[in-house]
Amino acid sequence: MNSLTTDCIFCKIVKKELPTKIIFENDICVAFNDIKPVSPTHILVIPKVHIKSLWEATDGELLGKLLLAAKEVAKQNNLNEGFRTVINTGDNGGQTVYHLHLHVLGGRFHKWPPG
Ligand code: AMP
Ligand code: ZN
Repeated sequence: MNSLTTDCIFCKIVKKELPTKIIFENDICVAFNDIKPVSPTHILVIPKVHIKSLWEATDGELLGKLLLAAKEVAKQNNLNEGFRTVINTGDNGGQTVYHLHLHVLGGRFHKWPPG
């Protein structure tokens, strides 16, 4: 595993340096509950390697695998009625943690457009 930074909170979760409960893991990513949920189900799927945001991402295979992992997480959490996947990118996108992550939101209706 390369490109892990020491001061990135999500890298610390990947390295299991924080007591965050991992609810899904595969070769390229881990998933855990968001600390400040905005929906009844709010899970974050993050790559094991440190990528700052979608802006910097170049590995299409990795991005595809992240999306499929989000679907697996949704299935495992019984989001049969549908769910929202979100990637916030950069300041205007509302990104607050600069380690690429997918939000998986479920358990309620999600209106469109978002705020
Ligand atoms: P974003 O605003 O898209 O960058 O999303 C960052 C998300 O990370 C927010 O929803 C935060 O609540 C969540 N978050 C920040 N720190 C933690 C943590 N230690 N464990 C779980 N979720 C976190
Ligand atoms: Zn990181």
